[in-house]
Amino acid sequence: MAYVTTSNRMLINGALVHSSSGEFDESINPATEEVIGQSPRGTKEDVERAVAAAETAWPGWAATTPSERGARMRAFGEALRARSEEILKVEVADTGNTITPMRGDVGVAVESLGYYAGLIHELKGETMPATPDNLHLTLREPYGVVARIAPFNHPLMFAVARTAAALAAGNAVIVKPPETSPLSAMVLAEIASDMLPPGVFNILTGAGATVGDAIVRHPGIKRIAFIGSPSTGRAIQRAAAETAVKHVTLELGGKNPLIAFPDTDPDTIADAAVRGMNFTWQGQSCGSTSRLLLHEDIHDAVLERVVERVSKLKIGDPTDPATDMGPVNSRIQHEKVLSFFETAKSDGSRRMTGGGRPSGANFEKGFWVEPTVYAGVRPGMRLWQEEVFGPILSVGRWRTVDEAIELANSTEYGLTGAVWTNDIRNALSVARQIRSGHVWINGVSNHFLGVPFGGMKNSGVGREEGIEEMFSYTEAKTINIMLN
Ligand code: NAD
Repeated sequence: MAYVTTSNRMLINGALVHSSSGEFDESINPATEEVIGQSPRGTKEDVERAVAAAETAWPGWAATTPSERGARMRAFGEALRARSEEILKVEVADTGNTITPMRGDVGVAVESLGYYAGLIHELKGETMPATPDNLHLTLREPYGVVARIAPFNHPLMFAVARTAAALAAGNAVIVKPPETSPLSAMVLAEIASDMLPPGVFNILTGAGATVGDAIVRHPGIKRIAFIGSPSTGRAIQRAAAETAVKHVTLELGGKNPLIAFPDTDPDTIADAAVRGMNFTWQGQSCGSTSRLLLHEDIHDAVLERVVERVSKLKIGDPTDPATDMGPVNSRIQHEKVLSFFETAKSDGSRRMTGGGRPSGANFEKGFWVEPTVYAGVRPGMRLWQEEVFGPILSVGRWRTVDEAIELANSTEYGLTGAVWTNDIRNALSVARQIRSGHVWINGVSNHFLGVPFGGMKNSGVGREEGIEEMFSYTEAKTINIMLN
């Protein structure tokens, strides 16, 4: 297969550039293992160049009026939309995510730019009545240079939707795309170089251990926002603290519970359980409800329906609109998911469907995994405790509400959770007792523009996707004006 994009440059100071290393990394289509593009192998020197450019650019950007800045952001969004088909093609080939739901990603990016563009006027301070002989007030000021480090599951969407708040607040940003799926970021680089002032938006591709680490340690970047795995998140907190005092926010993994009460219809729960697993991204979604906790009265009826639905999912070419599930993102991800199948062979759980690599000529190359359901999963098992970030649904059972809550909270994670019942008291009571940052009642999976998202416990710190995210890219300055 030919390259899916000829874009192969990063963005520093408004210019499309190669890395100072002069070297490239090849990108592989996870469905075929063919090389489909290349990205510059960024270096520490590239980080220095990007920080210098951003440092020069941000004061001018922050000095624009809310209307001017908002207009630039909206125009950036429209330019993205104009190339959305091209981005979609690149993103599907580079991530393995299926094409139909992936169509939404550019839309979310554009909408987020519009949402934060509209919020710029809300960057207000306060006055305090602390003393009668002073006027006490606060202003919100941008950090200046901020960084966004993104994971592989929705590279373009995270690079744009999760930098919009920082741009709105008047910062210049440096984006580090995922190394296994960097190609859409280089199309984005072309668009941003046309639409935003030089240095306001910079993109550095390359390895997490080199360019990512250099960003995290750079003393000129005080604000770092990370989406990725819990272990990398902790490494980032450690590395950042070694060089400077920094504001680091983390959106990490989950092992999210869906608690189903016996008053709910088994077909409805089975549909929700499958939808909540996000098989369309091969389960590679932080918010996937990967632990299905069924009341014992409906356990067998729901399990049977879930297994029936999951075993019918169509695995295959992610560019085919009829496909339900593509390959997982990379060889490393593939090996990790397969390792769960090995562990599960002797842990006492019951494999209900899937549990291996699919057979057949179409699946000899590529990082394929069957959509899988295990029943009888209990605390202490690896499938219960660890995020797979793959298409494996674990099913457990409960008898009392207290037991359900205890089971729901029995992992180190606390990202999302779902409660399904028609009893409003049970719904609200359980929702309040789940130690997760984002809970759906009779829902799963959806993010809503303007509604905060983020994790408790080891799922992260900070909340994104609402107005709070924009404020998190500002520092308060207090001014006391002596009046007499
Ligand atoms: P990852 O942690 O391996 O990588 C994420 C990013 O960090 C990549 O760009 C990578 O290059 C970079 N990186 C790696 N090591 C680094 C280092 N030492 N310093 C700086 N940067 C470094 O994560 P992944 O495998 O790409 O993504 C999967 C994880 O992301 C899962 O755990 C998933 O739950 C999580 N995730 C969370 C959310 C959320 O909103 N909470 C959303 C999507 C994904």
